[in-house]
Amino acid sequence: MLIIKDIYNLQTYLNAYRDKGYSIGYVPTMGALHEGHRSLIEKSCNDNQKTIISIFINEKQFNDAQDFEAYPRNKGDDYNFCDKHNVDIIFEPSAEEIYPKEYKSIQNSHFKNILCDQYRPGHFDGVVNVLNRLFNIIESNKVYFGEKDFQQLKIVENLIKENFPNLKLVPVSTVRSTEGIALSSRNSKLSKKQMTDFISFQKEVIQFITHLDKKADLIEANKKAEEFIKSYEKFDYFEFRNATNLSLEGSLVEARLFYAIYKSSVRLIDNIRL
Ligand code: AMP
Repeated sequence: MLIIKDIYNLQTYLNAYRDKGYSIGYVPTMGALHEGHRSLIEKSCNDNQKTIISIFINEKQFNDAQDFEAYPRNKGDDYNFCDKHNVDIIFEPSAEEIYPKEYKSIQNSHFKNILCDQYRPGHFDGVVNVLNRLFNIIESNKVYFGEKDFQQLKIVENLIKENFPNLKLVPVSTVRSTEGIALSSRNSKLSKKQMTDFISFQKEVIQFITHLDKKADLIEANKKAEEFIKSYEKFDYFEFRNATNLSLEGSLVEARLFYAIYKSSVRLIDNIRL
């Protein structure tokens, strides 16, 4: 396994792969790797001859400086994790490598002012900037994204449609713990008590959605969702949306439940298919 920090070296290796006719799968991450990331890596290794993963904590997508500082980092463990799971290249660039002085920013224009875009202004601009740059540098055949970050997945779908016609996006289902919570790098920031509370919350959410009439329209269902979430502490959103276009139209059959809640200062997001 190679650990590469600069674009020139990276492209030398990637070009050598391409010369040999190898297909390249790419998994973008911010590190602190877990079984959710593993699922993306495994899928890429099954689909391609070579798999590259990037580890880059993209400051531009943090609308809160403290959140950026507090984001979990565990370099050595990540290297071992990738090695164990057959990654060929780890690309771990510096911010200067990704955003040189002459870099021109782009903006996201999709799925604006809803869900995470409403509560983390500028977050998805940061996401599309880093991905636009990484996709241009790596030029993989396929790229793997988790459904865990569903709004991000939809935005990336549009970015690829508009700018990278030769790149194939592969969505990967959310990996959950046995108790049902979505695995996330941020889970490591929870205390034991917060984790127990979060697991009970998730169980109650599942109970709540299993008892709903799946034919109900989203307006009706969201009134019930509002009632349900009232008694819980801090949250940004907790609502059903159409899984195709993230609108509030249609019935529960074609929806997902989206939430962003806080356990102290840790913000946790999930989306659940009905
Ligand atoms: P992150 O390192 O959090 O930026 O995530 C990198 C990629 O892993 C994104 O495409 C995420 O959607 C995906 N991912 C994170 N957690 C999970 C999970 N529990 N199941 C599946 N994919 C995940």
